[in-house]
Amino acid sequence: MRNVNNIVGRFAPSPTGPLHFGSLVAALASFLDTRANQGTWLLRIEDLDPPRESESAPAKIMKQLHSFGMDWDAPPMFQSTRLDAYSEALARLSEAGHTFLCTCTRKATRGVYPGTCRDKQHTDQASAIRVLTTATSIHFDDQILGPRAYNMEQEIGDFIIKRKDGLFAYQLAVVVDDHFQQVNRIVRGSDLLDSTPRQIFLNRCLNYPSPSFAHFPVVLGDDGQKLSKQAHAAPVTSEDSATVLATALKALGQRPVDRNPIGKMLDQAIRQWALDQIPRQLTIPNRDL
Ligand code: GLU
Ligand code: ZN
Repeated sequence: MRNVNNIVGRFAPSPTGPLHFGSLVAALASFLDTRANQGTWLLRIEDLDPPRESESAPAKIMKQLHSFGMDWDAPPMFQSTRLDAYSEALARLSEAGHTFLCTCTRKATRGVYPGTCRDKQHTDQASAIRVLTTATSIHFDDQILGPRAYNMEQEIGDFIIKRKDGLFAYQLAVVVDDHFQQVNRIVRGSDLLDSTPRQIFLNRCLNYPSPSFAHFPVVLGDDGQKLSKQAHAAPVTSEDSATVLATALKALGQRPVDRNPIGKMLDQAIRQWALDQIPRQLTIPNRDL
C-alpha cells in the first residue's frame, strides 16, 4: 500500500450489533478520507464491555464492510487482546500522580465530576480510577467543526479510565491503541466530540502525540434524533449496498457517484472526496433506508 503522507486512519466500532446506517457513515467517512490521502486504513474492534456486546457482531461488521468494498490494510485488532497494554498505561499514569480512586456512585457524579474523592486515602471499597484533571485548556482545530477549546477541570472534569467493575474505560483504551497503531487522523461522529479533549489530555499525560481530528455531525433521523439501535435505526443489509452507499455519500455532502459495481463507486467517491463539503448538520430520512 502506497502511503506517501503516512496517514493512518481507523474505524473503531463497538461490537454491540451489526452496523446501522450511522455507523456505516462513520466507517465510510474515515475510509474515504484515509484513501483520498493514500493512507493506511485500520479496523479495530472495541470489545471492552462484554455484557453490551454480541459475539457474532465482529464477523457481521466485517462482512458488511466487505460488502461495501471497504477493506482494511492490516489484521483487525481486538481490544480484548490488549488488556496488558492498558494496565501498563494505567500504571504509568498512576506512578506519575495522574490518577485517584473514586468510590462515588454513578448517580452522585452526573455532569462534571466535582472532585469528591481526590484527597481520599486508600480504600478497600470497590472503586473506579479517575484521571486527575487540571485547569489547563485543551485546544484543537477540528478539520470539520473548526477550533475548539475546553477547560479540562471546569468543563470536562476528572474522568474514569478504569471502571468499578474492573473494565478499562473507552477513553484509556482508545488512546493507548491509537498510539500503538500509529493512528494520526481520526474521522468520526460528533457524538464523540466531548471525548476528544479527554483523549488529548491523556495523550499529554502519557507523552503521546495527538492525532488530528475531524468530527462529522452525527446522522439524524427525520425527527432530529440521532440514529442508533435504540432509536430503531435500520440495520444496514448488504442487499443493495449501492443504494445505501449513495445515501451515505449524500449524507456526507459528497457529489453523487455513477451506478457501477460497488468497488468502482467507491473509487469514484475517493477521487471526489471533499471534507469541506460535509454539512454541519446531517439529516437523513430514516424510512428510506
Ligand atoms: N468504539 C467507539 C464507538 O463505536 C468509537 C471509537 C472512536 O471512533 O473513537 O462509539
Ligand atoms: Zn468519587
